[in-house]
Amino acid sequence: MTIKAFGTTASDAPLIPMDIERRDTRENDVKINITFCGVCHSDIHTAHNDWKNARYPVIPGHEIVGKVVEVGSTVSKFKVGDVVGVGCMVDSCLTCEACLDGDEQHCHKRATMTYGSPDKVSGGHTHGGYSQSITVREEFVLHIPENLDVKAVPPLLCAGITTYSPLKHFNIGKGHKVGVIGLGGLGHLGVKFAKALGADVTVLSRSPGKEADAQELGADTLITTDKDAFKAGRGRFDFLLNTVPVPHNLDMYLSLLGRNGTMVIVGAIEPFQGLHSGSLIGGRKRLVGSAIGGIAETQEMLEFASKHGIVSDIEMIDMDEINHAWERVMASDVRYRFVIDMQSLKD
Ligand code: NAP
Ligand code: ZN
Repeated sequence: MTIKAFGTTASDAPLIPMDIERRDTRENDVKINITFCGVCHSDIHTAHNDWKNARYPVIPGHEIVGKVVEVGSTVSKFKVGDVVGVGCMVDSCLTCEACLDGDEQHCHKRATMTYGSPDKVSGGHTHGGYSQSITVREEFVLHIPENLDVKAVPPLLCAGITTYSPLKHFNIGKGHKVGVIGLGGLGHLGVKFAKALGADVTVLSRSPGKEADAQELGADTLITTDKDAFKAGRGRFDFLLNTVPVPHNLDMYLSLLGRNGTMVIVGAIEPFQGLHSGSLIGGRKRLVGSAIGGIAETQEMLEFASKHGIVSDIEMIDMDEINHAWERVMASDVRYRFVIDMQSLKD
């Protein structure tokens, strides 16, 4: 069926209203009417072709929450009326070693991402959540805990799992000194999860104006435009979660790690700028990357968020405010995630 959406046709074009096609509900599908969709910096990277793999039109959106309106005959985990979520993936082979390990994002045959990814079953490429509805196979749909404010849940489905997953993988908890680099969508949820896991958390930010927010989130702040901050922070951290969305000097940040410290890159997907092997050799430091998280782990993250009352700090916008919202994300001026009220697309 034809539905309304917002998307872009070229790397330098604005987002405009479009009509797109959604498939008929298959036996293992869940059809979801989208109520809210988060705005991730990756939406912008993709539309602007920063990663040189964009397929146009790009219909972004991979922080999707909505209501089930139809289920296929073999669907057992969802029923009409359920409030559900869809994150960054909508399909994978489910049989390779990575998928069997619950790492569908690392599927050996490549997971199908929610937007801009070749659709191996239907052909063409996938379209995301800046749209009225989405149809997804049951295995990639998530249950949304009832106690959480549904408007502030969408960012958990990308920003949330992307920060929760490496914290869990590296067993971060009580006694660990964690630094979160960049207080944006990912960063502010990274702070919330690291705090809830019991770590001692510091925000590393270029924005002095965010100091009070960091404090409210329960974190100290280190202002990284202040040269002395790097000196003062030298060797101070066990773990750094790096959410910076652009190429930047890594040596500076690695100097903040103590012996056996780990820096996880979840931000910029780019060639490294400054990176001297001495920054890793001295202190036996680790530099690793991490991509979102698997489906079971995303459900686990939602249960953890439910237990600890964690949702995103959001600014709600209408669909036609999206181009301005993107400008503000690029200017690091969002506190701390835009969420689109998808009712506004219908209207
Ligand atoms: P965001 O809301 O724009 O936040 C990024 C923050 O980084 C900004 O708020 C800013 O914080 C800081 N920053 C921006 N430019 C900087 C610069 N030049 N130098 C140092 N710090 C800078 O973006 P987001 O949605 O959190 O996404 C962050 C990155 O993660 C994006 O590149 C996105 O594509 C990527 N991502 C990766 C995954 C994954 O699976 N690995 C998943 C989702 C997103 P301050 O104002 O505090 O400095
Ligand atoms: Zn994202």
